[in-house]
Amino acid sequence: MEKGSRARDYHPDTRSVSQRRTFRSCGYKWLFNYLQGWRSRQTRAVMVLGSVMEQIASAIACGWVTTADDAEAGFLLAWDMLDRSTVEWSVRNTWEAFRDQGAALSRIIVPQIQERIFVPEVLGQQYMQERIFHFLAPGVREQCIPDLYGFVRQDLFSDYRLTVLDFKTKDRGFDDSAIELDEQMVAYQLAEESKTRMVQQLCLCVMIRGANPKMQWLFADPRPTLLVERHLQSATLIDAQIKRGEFWQNPNECFNMGECEFLSLCYPSRAHERDAKLIRNGDRRASLFTGWDD
Ligand code: SF4
Repeated sequence: MEKGSRARDYHPDTRSVSQRRTFRSCGYKWLFNYLQGWRSRQTRAVMVLGSVMEQIASAIACGWVTTADDAEAGFLLAWDMLDRSTVEWSVRNTWEAFRDQGAALSRIIVPQIQERIFVPEVLGQQYMQERIFHFLAPGVREQCIPDLYGFVRQDLFSDYRLTVLDFKTKDRGFDDSAIELDEQMVAYQLAEESKTRMVQQLCLCVMIRGANPKMQWLFADPRPTLLVERHLQSATLIDAQIKRGEFWQNPNECFNMGECEFLSLCYPSRAHERDAKLIRNGDRRASLFTGWDD
């Protein structure tokens, strides 16, 4: 979407799946991030790897990259240009380890994506990373950026179907049923349908890094009406709570799966860490950046 169009369609009360996930985990997290503009100085390494891999996969899916050599070269170029000081590395997730894993993964995804994703020659048959603004209910604004909409087939012997697809990068595969309740997929479906585009199937395309890189393709039918209605109810409820300013702290989330990035804002004993760990973009009501997954 053009910059002008993006600015025209944007509204500060625009929500997304990432925002709702953040709000559900802890209201204060949403407040700090989306209302007050706080964010970590560093991005976790797995997020950065996922973002680069998504760009490589997209380039293959639309036919810009056609060989394993080019995919690997594209990955290495992007990875070597990273500003490493902006990334949070760990003992296992080092720049070097991810460089090797990403290069190997970039090679093996080429034939698999080419086998399943149709590269159209006609405009309007494939949309990549399109930012879609629409309404989930009267006054409930939503933005969504599906990774891909276009023709995808389940295997060499299946027909191509109009599909909305999400790329993921993980260190292990998902359970086969993971796609069925994935909130992101119903959000993608609704976004495409708001553009009056037919969605015949949903697809989760998982790029699995590690010693044995591989891909996992999960497919599901579009969400039935009942599940769509539940999704809309939940989104509408959260939108109303945010508009009413109902935010609570959730202490169960502070040290869940590591430390919450906002500990220095909630815990006076950690306040001295604030400037080293966080920066603030100023009051932004809600950011246009809604997470890596939107
Ligand atoms: S530190 Fe705890 S209460 Fe504060 S935003 Fe994070 S999860 Fe919420």
